[in-house]
Amino acid sequence: MQARLIDGNALSATLRSHFAERAQKLAGRGITPGLAVILVGENPASAVYVRNKVAACEKAGIRSLRFDYSESVDPQEVFAQIEALNADPGVHGILVQLPLPRQFDPEAVLDAVSPDKDVDGFHAHNVGRLAQGTPAFVPCTPYGVMKMLEAEAVPIKGAEAVVLGRSNIVGKPMARLLLQAGATVTVCHSQTRDIAFHTRRADILVVAVGRPRMVSGQMIKPGAVVIDVGINRLPAEQGGKLCGDVEFESARAVAGLITPVPGGVGPMTITMLLANTLESAERHAARFDVWGAE
Ligand code: NDP
Repeated sequence: MQARLIDGNALSATLRSHFAERAQKLAGRGITPGLAVILVGENPASAVYVRNKVAACEKAGIRSLRFDYSESVDPQEVFAQIEALNADPGVHGILVQLPLPRQFDPEAVLDAVSPDKDVDGFHAHNVGRLAQGTPAFVPCTPYGVMKMLEAEAVPIKGAEAVVLGRSNIVGKPMARLLLQAGATVTVCHSQTRDIAFHTRRADILVVAVGRPRMVSGQMIKPGAVVIDVGINRLPAEQGGKLCGDVEFESARAVAGLITPVPGGVGPMTITMLLANTLESAERHAARFDVWGAE
């Protein structure tokens, strides 16, 4: 039997249908949610991501502001812009598109963003809050994965969850969220001795390594939920298509539920960015109410 697909486009559409309504409610109180997007350099993939994020904002009634810098920009210029955006009451979210050119210390840049506007959830303050189990902003990709599991009513409490990959952007926050939700979590990475040993025990397997088709059906427990975060472009001689970190066909024959690439986790990442920006604007509105009442 073939695994059922988790359709990230359909779930995103459902979630986004409520966003315009939330943005309108805020507009009624004189607040237009605003997201500032900073792009440094000419990385083509980053340019596509930024374009998609800006387009999604417009559809959701979120004002987007773009700040594009050349590859050779002096980091001080970017820091000064972030500071100005931190102080701007019309901006509720600030996103710095990664990766950054070599002259930047990415952690210093991410920590320059006010934690109250850190809609990517990458500021050390928000990373710490997530680790404590009291998140303020949850990083968008793992947040999207949790929404997918929730929408499919996947039992998480007591489940064996294996996360393949330990990046700060995906693997680590993913593991923390699953742990918080009651799973028993194993995190695998490039130093793990026998990856298949772990993946075969997983009721929930989240793969985020950036290696095309690394996880085959033989590495998956029958009936497991398989979430493929990977987005890889195959070389032209192999068709040049996008593919995930999971070998889709063989995995689908074994798993119970599986995300496709494209159309799985990708759209959910942008959706949760919109959700975090709206959440930030709503918190801003709530603070305004409290002050207004004083
Ligand atoms: P990173 O390169 O930052 O991290 C990759 C992780 O995978 C590392 O922890 C690394 O281990 C581990 N790894 C690499 N090779 C192996 C291997 N052979 N065996 C075991 N572990 C390995 O990537 P990201 O987390 O940023 O992204 C992962 C994938 O997800 C990429 O394809 C990326 O494009 C995609 N992505 C998709 C998003 C979406 O919206 N769908 C959003 C973000 C990313 P170690 O730490 O030991 O080096």
